[in-house]
Amino acid sequence: MSSHTVMVNIIKSVGEILLESFLFDYDGTLGKTLERQFLWFPKWAEMNKIPWKKISFKEFTQRYNAAIERGDFMEAYKEFGLPCDLEEKPCRVWIEYNNFKINNPAQLYEGVPELITKIHASFSIPKYMNKRIRMGINTTNHWSSIEQELSMYGLLDFFDSKISAEDLGLYSDDGVGKPLNKPNKISLDLSLNTLGANGFRTLFMGDTINDLRAGKSIPRNGNAFDTESLIMIGFAGGYAGRKKLEEGFNTGKKTYHYDYIVDNHIETLKVLDDIRG
Ligand SMILES: [Mg+2]
Repeated sequence: MSSHTVMVNIIKSVGEILLESFLFDYDGTLGKTLERQFLWFPKWAEMNKIPWKKISFKEFTQRYNAAIERGDFMEAYKEFGLPCDLEEKPCRVWIEYNNFKINNPAQLYEGVPELITKIHASFSIPKYMNKRIRMGINTTNHWSSIEQELSMYGLLDFFDSKISAEDLGLYSDDGVGKPLNKPNKISLDLSLNTLGANGFRTLFMGDTINDLRAGKSIPRNGNAFDTESLIMIGFAGGYAGRKKLEEGFNTGKKTYHYDYIVDNHIETLKVLDDIRG
């Protein structure tokens, strides 16, 4: 029995779930940003006068993901022999990368505009609730390029909340410090608070195992005894791919899995129909 079938059976046994919000990761879930990284790395090599050996998108993806799994994005730069010095003041890699992002907006995945507008239209005021379903973006990335890309598709106004690097930076001493790293339950707690939603009535769509780790057992408002898990949808078309998502992750005590895994955003609408009963 797949996790999908299990979830549907659970829902059927307790009646339909009243959904309050739908949270989206951005990179690799809504925006095709891995494709942009594939363009950015050779560009950054060129800017540093480092020879770049041409590789396929598939090879790039495999090496990039393996590096991220070993460490973080700095490890990915190291994997390709590129400099990434965050101590540098001003930090050249971020300045140049942010310029590159603004000049090279990411495309959204196929079906994203349809998904967002459909959720907005069909969940206006769900039964028994005088609020429509709220949508939010949850990312540890910077907002400027994401805002530009969502605007480009006319989708920005459909979102009620965003928690991004800038918001997480507010919690550092100088208000602009390094944002919290992934996996990040604090960030999801903030998203739920801004949306006024309960975790168990919230869908979270991500594309990596880190998204899954963040979405399970979130302490609400700093209370270790008040944890909530989000209903997790994995998007198999993003950074990690279906095989990784299906493996889930093991805490040593138990293994967590995505409740649903979809290959495209049209399937996400079918998941929504399932959950609503
Ligand atoms: Mg992602």
